[in-house]
Amino acid sequence: MKFEVLTLFPEMFDALKIGILGKAQESGKIVINATNIRDYTKDKHGKVDDTPFGGGAGMVMTPDPIVSAIRAVDPEHKYKRIYLSPKGRTLTQSVVKDFSKEEGLLLLCGSYEGIDQRAIDLEIDEELSIGDYVLTSGELPAMVVINCVSRYIDGVLHSADSVVEESFSDNLLEYPQYTKPRVYEGLAVPDVLVSGNHGEIDKWRKEQSLQITKERRPDLLVK
Ligand code: SAM
Repeated sequence: MKFEVLTLFPEMFDALKIGILGKAQESGKIVINATNIRDYTKDKHGKVDDTPFGGGAGMVMTPDPIVSAIRAVDPEHKYKRIYLSPKGRTLTQSVVKDFSKEEGLLLLCGSYEGIDQRAIDLEIDEELSIGDYVLTSGELPAMVVINCVSRYIDGVLHSADSVVEESFSDNLLEYPQYTKPRVYEGLAVPDVLVSGNHGEIDKWRKEQSLQITKERRPDLLVK
């Protein structure tokens, strides 16, 4: 899967060259291209922002470098074009699954007070928020999208089961996990997990999932 990122800070995406996503890039399961929007400005000083019409705090990213950059990296509009924005629909696991079926995602990262609305109106398919809070720029949200979508790409995770039995699958939070040692600081692993009885283990996990979801996220059960 291809991720075309448009950003003022392409070097931030070097952070994705390590760990699981690093390996996924090395094996070609995912491709991440980070393009600097500043490379597309016609301003001789490299300026990509200006003051807002109507007044107000901060600066706004001008439309032309963004529109030019989008048209250069995705000339045939092959990729779903997403602007990371606190005003967008909120990212959830079901959105992640849908995105993983796309041929590629173009992720536009805003900075300053955001971007000129005309760039959104002309080129963007969807605005997407990673939660009800405001960050200084869209790079971390774009990395969040790349990370969670990549987990659904064949061969990225060691075991395909990882995305089946985890929080938010079936609208449930995951059951508690334990590993060795069997007793740690006086706390023992629940007997059922070392019983070897897989029917009982499945039943216990399902009950735990339901209980935790009921306590922490009853809204998921309503769904
Ligand atoms: N003035 C904007 C507003 O009130 O909606 C906030 C702009 S924010 C300081 C700068 C950039 O950070 C945005 O253009 C967007 O790309 C990114 N950003 C901030 N919070 C975000 C969030 N919760 N989800 C996705 N992107 C976010």
